[in-house]
Amino acid sequence: MKGFSIALQPYQFVMPRKIIFGWGCRQHLAEELPRWGTRVFVICGSRTLERQGVLDHLRRLLERAGVTWQFLTTISREPLVCDVDAVTGQVRSIGLRPGDMLLAVGGGSAIDLAKAVAAMATNSQGESVQDYLENVGRGLKLTQPPLPVVAVPTTAGTGTEATRNAVISSLDPPFKKSLRDDRVVPLVAVVDPELTVTQPPHVTASSGMDAITQLVESFISNRRKPIPQMLAPEGLRLALKWLTTAYREPDHREAREAMAQAALLSGICLANAGLGMAHGIAAALGVVAGIPHGLACAMMLPAALRANRTVVGRELAYLTRHALEKDFPNDDAAVDALIEAVEQLRADLHLPQKLREIGVSQEMIPKIAAGSFGTSMSGNPRPMTQGEIEDILCSLY
Ligand SMILES: [Zn+2]
Repeated sequence: MKGFSIALQPYQFVMPRKIIFGWGCRQHLAEELPRWGTRVFVICGSRTLERQGVLDHLRRLLERAGVTWQFLTTISREPLVCDVDAVTGQVRSIGLRPGDMLLAVGGGSAIDLAKAVAAMATNSQGESVQDYLENVGRGLKLTQPPLPVVAVPTTAGTGTEATRNAVISSLDPPFKKSLRDDRVVPLVAVVDPELTVTQPPHVTASSGMDAITQLVESFISNRRKPIPQMLAPEGLRLALKWLTTAYREPDHREAREAMAQAALLSGICLANAGLGMAHGIAAALGVVAGIPHGLACAMMLPAALRANRTVVGRELAYLTRHALEKDFPNDDAAVDALIEAVEQLRADLHLPQKLREIGVSQEMIPKIAAGSFGTSMSGNPRPMTQGEIEDILCSLY
């Protein structure tokens, strides 16, 4: 296989202190949590988890291990500023004591809410989490370390169990921004693929496409780094090979394990190497048109590959050769194959291909283009103009 090397510039690298991965590994929380603390504030990602008894089981497990269980809330939408502020208020009124931790069991929304609350619980100079979000509010920085977070993802996609930001939205004024700090990375990530088998197929599909987009974008990002460069090709190989099986056969163990691993790797990669244009536009699609994150990523990834291939063709070809486990006569053929594989996958997962199918109106396009230039877009290898983004959106309409 043709390779390439990137110059070893100085870099920094963050990830959870400990990762516990494996089918059924949530059982290990009973031995693990007492090593770090004595009480957990619990945030749950869906009523389904409660109904299925997952949460009750964990509560009994932890209480037997001597950890106090303090339930906070269940969240089933992407967290808003008001959610973070309300739950932070709840924690403050209970009162903090040494040995407190946050435990999040759920998808990206629950884990992001927990990460933000963990930070806000110990940092009270601002009145709202908004004061700490990038590019909005007062630009306050965390002065105190957040409470430790233990993240137990139940979807395979966002990788937020391994990232150093929490994505928080607001409806009025409309935005979707990050609280970002190295200390926001969860202390322990407990990645139990068995927890993902109850996800409905459309969630498996969109969260899997999010992981794929994160692996590709962090690999070609203009902030790409040596360690993520080693991890992303393997994550992409697993995801391209197994996502359709996970979608069609929800309790397929090998497929669920592969997707959970791919999602975890995607989080480690994006936390350290940034993202790009697909994520930049996905944030704006979320704010302006309410499009869920994974669906928006799936919609934008092929366009991002086409827009960037002229500047990172070699990197994309390397990534494709590894991910598809196949050689190609030249780099162009490899990149073509990657775009084709992503589009085929999107069709196999029955994901919409056009913006108008998901409730975007033509009048929204200029607004979406204008709102696409956040932190994610700044990692895109090729600088994009607002006009180019508008053209891309029109072509997908
Ligand atoms: Zn994402």
